[in-house]
Amino acid sequence: MQRPLMRIPYTGPLPPPNTIPRNANTITGAIAALSTFLTAPPSPFLQDGFGDPTSTVILSGAGISVASGLADYRGTKGTYRVNKTYRPIYYHEFLANHEARKRYWARSFLGWTNLHKAKPNVTHYAIKTLGQMGFVRNVITQNVDSFHSIAHPDLPTLELHGFLRALICVTCHRELARDDFQESLARLNPVWAAFLTDAVASGALDTENPDERRARGMKTNPDGDVDLPGAPYHTFRYPPCPHCLANPPISGDGVQSKVDIDHEGAWKSTSTAGILKPSVVMFGESIAPRVKEAAEHVIDGSGRLLILGTSLATYSAWRLARRAKERGMPIGILNLGGVRGEDAFFQDLLVSQQGESGVRIDMGTDKILPDLVDQLKRNGVSDQHRSDPSHAEERSINSRISKDMLS
Ligand SMILES: [Zn+2]
Repeated sequence: MQRPLMRIPYTGPLPPPNTIPRNANTITGAIAALSTFLTAPPSPFLQDGFGDPTSTVILSGAGISVASGLADYRGTKGTYRVNKTYRPIYYHEFLANHEARKRYWARSFLGWTNLHKAKPNVTHYAIKTLGQMGFVRNVITQNVDSFHSIAHPDLPTLELHGFLRALICVTCHRELARDDFQESLARLNPVWAAFLTDAVASGALDTENPDERRARGMKTNPDGDVDLPGAPYHTFRYPPCPHCLANPPISGDGVQSKVDIDHEGAWKSTSTAGILKPSVVMFGESIAPRVKEAAEHVIDGSGRLLILGTSLATYSAWRLARRAKERGMPIGILNLGGVRGEDAFFQDLLVSQQGESGVRIDMGTDKILPDLVDQLKRNGVSDQHRSDPSHAEERSINSRISKDMLS
């Protein structure tokens, strides 16, 4: 039996980025290298797969959402950028501890407005165009902000770590929309709701500049929560799963569970069921086997891997890159700052290669991808990719796979 794949943050040091090919250290050089990467013939080292060897799969991370106003987990030196003492909540802690859940939901309640207002940025729309041009067939993302599916609903996206747009009940596994939950939280926590209204009025949530937002007293992390030192988290209340409240289930060992609520409907700690959690894979939680397999399937059906805005700090993402490397897929990395174990992805490249076998660029995706798309359009290479009918057919198959796996 395979080991479950757990989401664990990596806190080790990251190597300094080593630009490949060497002239990819300017915007012009970087665009040329990526253009070569995307348009090169399939690698002679590519192992047989079932997909199209000319297709690219993108693996994205928090770095591509920075331009949407969401902070990155890590700075360029590998430290937590937003708040050095920030530590994400762990799954076991969330399940076991009512106080930890209050703190989580209080921060999430305040952070949701900001996340909800944030929108996909030029990187997401450049990816959409790369999909329309036939270069990119699939996206695997570690991001939980839903920006990929908003920006390019027709380009299949596999959300490796789930999504914040819904909650899931840990007892009955039914989903609930995050928007509806936000209204329940506001109703149960009027003082917090008033604070949030003030924060919105002060403009702390209006700016997309993390420094300005911080200056106005608010910090947001990529999982959509806000950090407020000294806030009375123990006063925060959250509701149970409405289904488990109405029909308390019988547990696996035949015991009748109970869902207790206070006079206004907030979950009480005497309950034995009905805890809602965000539909994200929390740190310390295992990725569902069907999602892990779907991600591997996407890698095995592609000819090259383009890694965008991630240091591959989580093992679940890093091992997909390793799988691609082991399949002989050329790897491109566009990320500001070091990437976990990146030397291993490029160690056997010829110095003379111009991007066809591998690319490493130490820049932000929003500075490069829109211009890359323009250059590819000018070169007219899209027609050649678009005209192959087998691509369209395969795209539709891939789309079904990704969506089925996640439904
Ligand atoms: Zn439930």
